[in-house]
Amino acid sequence: MRLSFYGATRIVTGSCFLVETGGLRVLVDCGLFQGTREIRELSFKPFPFLPASVDYLLLTHAHIDHSGLIPRLCREGFQGKILATKATVDLMGVLLPDAAHIQEMEAEQKSRKARRAGRPVVAPLYTLTDAQESLRFFEGVDYGTELSLAPHVSATFLDAGHILGAAMVLLTVTENGVSFRLLFTGDIGRPGQRFVKDPAVVEDADYVVIESTYGNRIHQEIDEKAVLHDVLWRTYQRGGNLIIPAFAVERTQDLLYDLSELYHAGKLPPVKVVIDSPLAAAVTDIFTRHSEYYDRETRFLIQCGQDPLNSECIHFSVTTEESRALNAIQSGLVIISASGMCEAGRIRHHLKHNLWRPECTVLFVGYQAEGTLGRHILDGDKMVTIFGEEIAVNAEIVELPGYSAHADQPALLNWLKGIQKKPRQVFVVHGEPEAAETLRSKIESELGLSAVVPDYGSSWTLAADVQAAALLDAYRRLGERLHEFLRRAAPAEIAAAAKQLEEIASR
Ligand SMILES: [Zn+2]
Ligand SMILES: [Zn+2]
Repeated sequence: MRLSFYGATRIVTGSCFLVETGGLRVLVDCGLFQGTREIRELSFKPFPFLPASVDYLLLTHAHIDHSGLIPRLCREGFQGKILATKATVDLMGVLLPDAAHIQEMEAEQKSRKARRAGRPVVAPLYTLTDAQESLRFFEGVDYGTELSLAPHVSATFLDAGHILGAAMVLLTVTENGVSFRLLFTGDIGRPGQRFVKDPAVVEDADYVVIESTYGNRIHQEIDEKAVLHDVLWRTYQRGGNLIIPAFAVERTQDLLYDLSELYHAGKLPPVKVVIDSPLAAAVTDIFTRHSEYYDRETRFLIQCGQDPLNSECIHFSVTTEESRALNAIQSGLVIISASGMCEAGRIRHHLKHNLWRPECTVLFVGYQAEGTLGRHILDGDKMVTIFGEEIAVNAEIVELPGYSAHADQPALLNWLKGIQKKPRQVFVVHGEPEAAETLRSKIESELGLSAVVPDYGSSWTLAADVQAAALLDAYRRLGERLHEFLRRAAPAEIAAAAKQLEEIASR
């Protein structure tokens, strides 16, 4: 079997791994590259494999850094099946069209500039039609069911405890009559998250491809609900609004969970909580339809009559008019809106109307990337520009990093330790260079496992028989070296080398 890494190598986005065995080609994830311009451009590069030659795409979860290139893959000839959990399939139904909308908007913006400069217009990475077309390739699967992809390959989706429907993918491959297992973790959640269960314990895996987003971090223990409670009351007593920029998937619902608990405990000030994002509203609806994925704590709450997504204090504003009407309200509002980093969407309107007022609060619950409006505000800028207008930052700014859906370093190591049969090789992906490298060395020093941080485009031979795999790898590398040699060497050198090789072969 051959495993190739085509994304999430020393970066956190663009997850994409290709498995080839006995004529079957399986892709695990097909994510969008996000971040700096250099990284974003990778999304536009030709796929390093023929999309038409891929039989299956196994999708770990709905986040765009794992799924965001699917419309392109399908447009460029993919004809196989996309397998994902049922919740992931439903989430994709709203997230891929949304991603396409963003791509179209960005291309339109660039085209406007290009036209003015007399340059050719820019085509979007993919269109809304591409996204909708790609949805027909999806097939929903359940956690824990072994699915046969070919007589010698099966796949099992296991709960990754990251976001609703997120899965690890366990491949069982039989080659030359011997079986071995390759596990892709996707993104691993942190234990004790709201709604979702804790990451599944895997007993047996020969090879593991593990994420390392927080491979060099230890999450602080924070009582998020208590912080939220204090911020809510402070803002309410000052007579202002609380503005929370949040991602539509999981983060928004996690906030609702805590707000609902405060409400039912009688600890919520008399405020109106508004989810002002059609996407977040659609995602919340999908959460309510998939209560079968909830953990025990969430089920218990619902049994006690406290549905975390449906308290009386929570309202959804879907239309633009409803959203605009919020601008006139001076106090008693909690607005949860997207985008999470304040780069686009309705949140910018709410910031424009509330950021300059000292009685208001802006609460950041998610990661704010370098260069984003959210980061500028968090870094203490006293003046920001929104819709071309200068806005003073007078509101109270609070950061609450606790709502993370990723395991930190100790949790990652602890989860890996749970694999009874020691994996013979661990591949560390989906992390910035420092995070990936730190986790890699911890895996070696603390767990005694062999671990590597693979390079983009690198390929590895995996097999039930370690020695055979090593020999095959050496053979493949020799082939690569020969190719290289052929490109550079003079005819006389090639002739001499051929003679030498012939001698070795005839021994
Ligand atoms: Zn994720
Ligand atoms: Zn991810």
